[in-house]
Amino acid sequence: MELKDLLKFIEIENKRLRTYYHNTDEDKIILAQTVKLTEELGELCSEVLAHKSLQRKQKLENHDKENIQEEFADVIITALLLAKTMNVDIEKALENKVKKINKRYT
Ligand SMILES: [Mg+2]
Repeated sequence: MELKDLLKFIEIENKRLRTYYHNTDEDKIILAQTVKLTEELGELCSEVLAHKSLQRKQKLENHDKENIQEEFADVIITALLLAKTMNVDIEKALENKVKKINKRYT
């Protein structure tokens, strides 16, 4: 999947989610999406720990090694949805950040 396809999906998903947020002010939507991002990041952290067998035995018994891919995707999608709500041009932001990182090595 290319970035443009992912951003097209974010556009569509954002419109679908807006139906849940009917009549909610923008600041509350941003807050809800920020909390959701934290939730998804926590799920990813939990999967990383399980992947490295650093969870308690009971959690490891129920662990599915495929979950980590889904949790990485959840974090990325949730962050992109929040960026969309906050009118951040994520394509430009990524370009600028990659340039900035690359500059560190020149
Ligand atoms: Mg998740």
